[in-house]
Amino acid sequence: MQTGEQQPALVVTTFGRRVEIELTSGDRVMARVKGKRLKVVCGDRVSATPIAGEQDYLVEDLLPRENVLSRPDSRGRVEVLAANVTMIVTVAAPAPRPDWFVVDRYLAAAELASARAVLVWNKTDTESRADHADELQTFVDIGYTVIRTSTVSGEGIAELSSVLSGQTAIFAGQSGVGKSSLINRLLGDSNLRTAEISTKSGEGRHTTVNSAMLSLPTGGAVIDSPGVRDFAPAIEAPEQTVAGFREIEAAGQHCRYANCRHLREPGCAVKEAVESGRIAARRYESYKRLLRLTEQFSSRHS
Ligand code: GDP
Ligand code: ZN
Repeated sequence: MQTGEQQPALVVTTFGRRVEIELTSGDRVMARVKGKRLKVVCGDRVSATPIAGEQDYLVEDLLPRENVLSRPDSRGRVEVLAANVTMIVTVAAPAPRPDWFVVDRYLAAAELASARAVLVWNKTDTESRADHADELQTFVDIGYTVIRTSTVSGEGIAELSSVLSGQTAIFAGQSGVGKSSLINRLLGDSNLRTAEISTKSGEGRHTTVNSAMLSLPTGGAVIDSPGVRDFAPAIEAPEQTVAGFREIEAAGQHCRYANCRHLREPGCAVKEAVESGRIAARRYESYKRLLRLTEQFSSRHS
């Protein structure tokens, strides 16, 4: 197979072994992935070469990844969903009833992936400002950006759009909180362009798009797919869990034992901070619950 010169590209859509890549010119072209072992996901930076006599490019190399977002698949193996994500936008809303553990888990995933974390409280048109104010303040106190939005009234959409500028983001959160509605609202008319591209690529309606990178009109991009929206972080080692909770990790610097897990150890500065109210008891419960989950996951896979 004759190929042209290698060039850098960004993976913007994946359909199994075929992908759509964006060249440095900004053009988007279809590509095949070389060999069986090379696996690429949305957000990957690759080198690709045009194939002589064909429209397709060939993806030959994967460049090192800054991070990956993954989830345990149905067989408990780790499935990579996206790479080089710089921001995780966790969405929650008054309805469906917020599950704060789910929120904490996504924020932890952002910390562990060294991505920026933003919490969006959507559907503000459906409640008064005092509802859930205490829970939301907990996140502000820890240092998270909390943006109140409504896809109905338009509150907070401009703020969210400016926070997303220059980022490669994913939206995560319980089903029904408004992730698709927010993404559509942010895309405005530009989502028509995405739809066009997928038809033009000849992949047809029946080909499942694994995930797609959508460019926002105000700059920045969102990687989206049903899988990405449901992602649950697979934390490989239980001792990494604490790094997902920045206030617990900070307090943990003062524990008597360097390997303190902040459960029942004597001289634990985290437990003290929880008892004195400096760390929210609810966040501490989330930490313990995620630690247990991670222990179960890692014992099944060691
Ligand atoms: P997803 O499952 O997180 O992607 O949620 P969807 O975007 O599909 O939204 C779920 C439901 O919530 C839909 O019926 C939306 O119309 C509705 N919804 C989304 N955003 C808002 C909002 O800001 N206010 C209100 N009242 N409803 C919303
Ligand atoms: Zn401790």
